[in-house]
Amino acid sequence: MAVLNRLLFTARTTATSPSSIRSALRHSSSPTNNLQSPSPSPSPPSTDQNQLHLSRSGSERNVQWVFLGCPGVGKGTYAARLSKLLGVPHIATGDLVRHELASNGPLSSQLSEIVNQGKLVSDEFIIKLLSKRLEAGEAKGESGFILDGFPRTLRQAEILEGVTDIDLVINLKLREEALIAKCLGRRICSQCGGNYNVACIDIKSENGLPGMYMAPLLPPTSCESKLITRPDDTEEVVKHRLHVYNEMSRPVEVFYRNRGKLLEFDLPGGIPESWPKLLRALHLDVHEDKKTIAA
Ligand code: AMP
Repeated sequence: MAVLNRLLFTARTTATSPSSIRSALRHSSSPTNNLQSPSPSPSPPSTDQNQLHLSRSGSERNVQWVFLGCPGVGKGTYAARLSKLLGVPHIATGDLVRHELASNGPLSSQLSEIVNQGKLVSDEFIIKLLSKRLEAGEAKGESGFILDGFPRTLRQAEILEGVTDIDLVINLKLREEALIAKCLGRRICSQCGGNYNVACIDIKSENGLPGMYMAPLLPPTSCESKLITRPDDTEEVVKHRLHVYNEMSRPVEVFYRNRGKLLEFDLPGGIPESWPKLLRALHLDVHEDKKTIAA
């Protein structure tokens, strides 16, 4: 059975709330708790086990990888690059949510309220969106994926684990001051969707911590006049999103660490330093990608 069908079935039959997104859509005037994630559940115990099994499961299918990491860490940037390199789709659930918002459907105003406050949407809703995206990909003959922004709760991780084998989970890490600066500097071209960053991060070494320099990623002239800022990239909301990550998504790191699937990756700086280092950590052929490293 296709991953998609199993994902939908498991979500419908095992999700904490019995109400599916279908009924949420039917009752679009009903309260937001069909869309909004419930309060954090306690984290499972931590473990020291951190041994990585970097395998493609010995099968012929393409990679099934996940990117974890705080808001602004660069999941989208590195997932997109790896997706291009490996020829697998990059599926960002945040993009699916924003696409849904842009469609101005009956749930848009409830959704924008949740997203703009930096909260998570419900597991049922995000699984519904992801399933739809996987279904569309399957129809086009896609195989494998790099997930970015999913799973974000322990429940989502359990559901995903129940329906397919995730080969590897890359946990990107950056210090908090850089995360906040990166979110505040993020700009998107409203026309081509290109992601840029106007922040120049220059953290001096202090108290034994190394310094860090990240050059801005400036847009081409053609995009300059069309840049927009995400409504959830204000300082207040970014801080709340970091809090939500610590409460809801740290347990997901533990979940994969316990299964020996977590690759911890501390970003050493911007793309020029981080990309080759990430490729080496993933045992990917760096020569193959020399041309795109500086892109
Ligand atoms: P992102 O672009 O990944 O920061 O996601 C933007 C927003 O979409 C998040 O702040 C959430 O409101 C929502 N979202 C994206 N992925 C998920 C997920 N896996 N679970 C719950 N909400 C999500």
